[in-house]
Amino acid sequence: MKVRVAVNGYGTIGKRVADAVARQPDMTLVGVAKTRPSFDAQRAIAHGYPLYVAGGGSRDAFEAAGLPVAGTVEEMVRASDVVVDAAPDKVGKENAGRYQAAGVRAIFQGGEKAEVAEVSFNALANYAQALGKQRVRVVSCNTTGIARAASVLTKGFGVDRWDVTLIRRAADPSETQRGPINGILPTFTLPSHHGPDVRTIFPDLAITTTAVVVPTTLMHVHVNHARLTRPPSDAAPVLDAFRGTRRFHIFSPWEKVDGTPQVMEFARDRGIPDMMENVLWANGLRLDGPDLYFFQAIHQESIVVPENIDAIRAMFNLAPDAATSMAITDKTLGLGPPSR
Ligand code: NAD
Repeated sequence: MKVRVAVNGYGTIGKRVADAVARQPDMTLVGVAKTRPSFDAQRAIAHGYPLYVAGGGSRDAFEAAGLPVAGTVEEMVRASDVVVDAAPDKVGKENAGRYQAAGVRAIFQGGEKAEVAEVSFNALANYAQALGKQRVRVVSCNTTGIARAASVLTKGFGVDRWDVTLIRRAADPSETQRGPINGILPTFTLPSHHGPDVRTIFPDLAITTTAVVVPTTLMHVHVNHARLTRPPSDAAPVLDAFRGTRRFHIFSPWEKVDGTPQVMEFARDRGIPDMMENVLWANGLRLDGPDLYFFQAIHQESIVVPENIDAIRAMFNLAPDAATSMAITDKTLGLGPPSR
């Protein structure tokens, strides 16, 4: 029996999650819900995804644009086992009651507060905690990137304390109304909210984060300084630990990947327009005694996509452990096995 999955909110994240669900052997995509007609809605129809009207949208508006509508979001929810809510920040909380009333499980995204769900989720870090759950929150893009790296570092070396400076992209490529287009904006919440968000998954991790926003749409970059509890004698074992873990991609100097533009070009060239892995550079990681310094780049539009799929598998006990689920997810999404 395949799990019936609906996607409510068909924007940056919802589009990608719907495509990913459609590729899973153990899931069926019931449909996607959108508020207004647009090229995205047309794309859903072109992919054969039933299109439902969400959030007070008008069926007439879709039909006037020549886009056939399968029904209302309520009908979509009733036909599903689980809804992936990918509506804008805070709207997921408003939608939560609707899912609960219908007796349908739900996955929320990182724009919602942790309280919306029973568990905040990252596949590498805490897959088992989502087994059989009704409501799961897949943490934000930045938190997902840090949680993956934290899984590797805490397991292999221990972390005494960790400071991260997040260089955040100003907007997603389609968000033409957001900025800045010329400036660097400090985030005046010190430390930033990302550290506490990481602790929804790693409650005891001594992590502090700060953030600035810069005029780019191509990925976030994290500047990391972690003091390790059990440091190896040189950096090679740390790099190997990242290399040997799913959803990390390490670039070597000869590849001439100077920064995020080449990372996204690399992704497009391999036939996936997204970079769902944490990106590290072999020459961007250094160990100085117990002090580990490394950069990592995070593709905000796509990094949470595999995690949404693994969260569904955990909730419905479709795979016994993270390794099994991640292997299926990564194969279907075209992500390679670990490179070591
Ligand atoms: P988005 O604005 O690109 O897409 C949201 C979609 O939901 C739009 O199509 C919008 O029309 C639709 N919508 C609006 N109101 C709705 C309603 N009441 N019911 C259903 N759909 C509705 O947003 P996004 O960037 O995809 O973000 C979705 C969630 O994912 C947020 O919680 C966000 O914080 C999180 N997230 C975003 C990113 C990112 O960088 N874009 C990364 C990780 C997590």
